[in-house]
Amino acid sequence: MIPLEEAVAHVLAGCHPLPPRTVPLAAAAGLVLAGDVVATEAVPPFANTAMDGYAVRAADTAGAPVVLPVVAEVAAGHPAARPLGPGEAVRIFTGAPLPEGADAVVPVERTERLEGGRAVRIEVEARPGDHVREAGEDLRPGDRLFGPGDELTPARVGVLASLGVGEVAAHPRPRVGVLSTGDELVEGPGPLRPGQIRDSNRPTLLALAARAGVEPVDLGHVPDDEEAITAAFRRGTAECDAVLSSGGVSMGDTDLVKVVLDRLGRMRWMQVAIRPAKPLAFGVVPAPDGREVPVFGLPGNPVSSMVSFALFARPGLRRMAGHRDDRLHLPRWRAVAAEPLPRRPDGKVHFVRVTVESDEDGRLRVRSAGGQGSHQLGAMARADGLAVLPDGEGAAAGDEVVVLLLGEPRAAGPGAAAAPAP
Ligand code: AMP
Ligand code: MG
Repeated sequence: MIPLEEAVAHVLAGCHPLPPRTVPLAAAAGLVLAGDVVATEAVPPFANTAMDGYAVRAADTAGAPVVLPVVAEVAAGHPAARPLGPGEAVRIFTGAPLPEGADAVVPVERTERLEGGRAVRIEVEARPGDHVREAGEDLRPGDRLFGPGDELTPARVGVLASLGVGEVAAHPRPRVGVLSTGDELVEGPGPLRPGQIRDSNRPTLLALAARAGVEPVDLGHVPDDEEAITAAFRRGTAECDAVLSSGGVSMGDTDLVKVVLDRLGRMRWMQVAIRPAKPLAFGVVPAPDGREVPVFGLPGNPVSSMVSFALFARPGLRRMAGHRDDRLHLPRWRAVAAEPLPRRPDGKVHFVRVTVESDEDGRLRVRSAGGQGSHQLGAMARADGLAVLPDGEGAAAGDEVVVLLLGEPRAAGPGAAAAPAP
């Protein structure tokens, strides 16, 4: 058996960011930037008001209350036709350009409209800059905003849109083929014949791939047949940037995935000191066009294939997508075991399926999500995280444990109380 870290390092050494392309901003959300983005314009582009109210010269409000004539009205998108003179006020609405000559805005709540709107009583003294958003207060030309490895989050898409950026250099979403192997597998509803089970890994892995931000490609199910497996991997490596298969990587006689991949590429067959997901195959298979396509042979047991995806495939695929090293792995959080999580020493690190709840003070509390067999997908489906139990006797209630979050922790406290009952 090899340590987890060694297996992860081996996988990452075979996964490289895909060559960047120019992508329209409208199609770039979630992609990872390959170049620097520098602001070319000021945002906001002009000084404008943060409030509905009256634009004034602050000096004119000295000794408030004061009454000023209202000489114009300006709304967002409609600048004033002439500058504001001394002793004048302009009615102004949020987002409207501050008239030339004005240096402050008095919110409408601190004013009284007089003479049908031809004058206004200003109740408070204004200071220069009050409720004014200056040009460039958010972004200035020349600011370096984002760089290689930064994911285009919704806010970053918004920043680029606010600058008028139409396209970006980004790594494409890796196309990730998923296939399942095994004579026992059937797809869809319909009755099962003796010995058959339904293929759950392929839909699961396709969904995991999509959630990891890559593009899933369904390569179908292949029986335990050398020719069929060969054809599936040939097609997968020709059409995709990476391929995931499940099943056929343990020690059994029918584990033909091993035979086929050893012939097609440079594979390493690993026994990783973890539970579940001990067997893992990883290597590169040359595609007809010369690309070296990473191939993951994940274990067949449903929970094992998911854990193997989380620990090995997801980081590798995210590296291909261009993410930086600190964005590859599931985040590790410290939590408290709300109940005992026992285990036996066996030289392996255990990843226990747990529910994760954040208590009123923001502490994470974990409990077993149920049966921990590698075939028990039910507990995985209830789990919010994987508690990491180093070799030993496990955790007692109250012990601190590290947990890898698979999704979002459940909310306790006010958030939970405010939520409708299920
Ligand atoms: P294998 O690694 O092929 O020996 O498979 C290990 C276990 O996982 C066996 O019980 C298989 O029936 C099961 N298994 C393999 N592939 C799948 C799949 N796609 N969906 C559900 N179970 C599977
Ligand atoms: Mg099999």
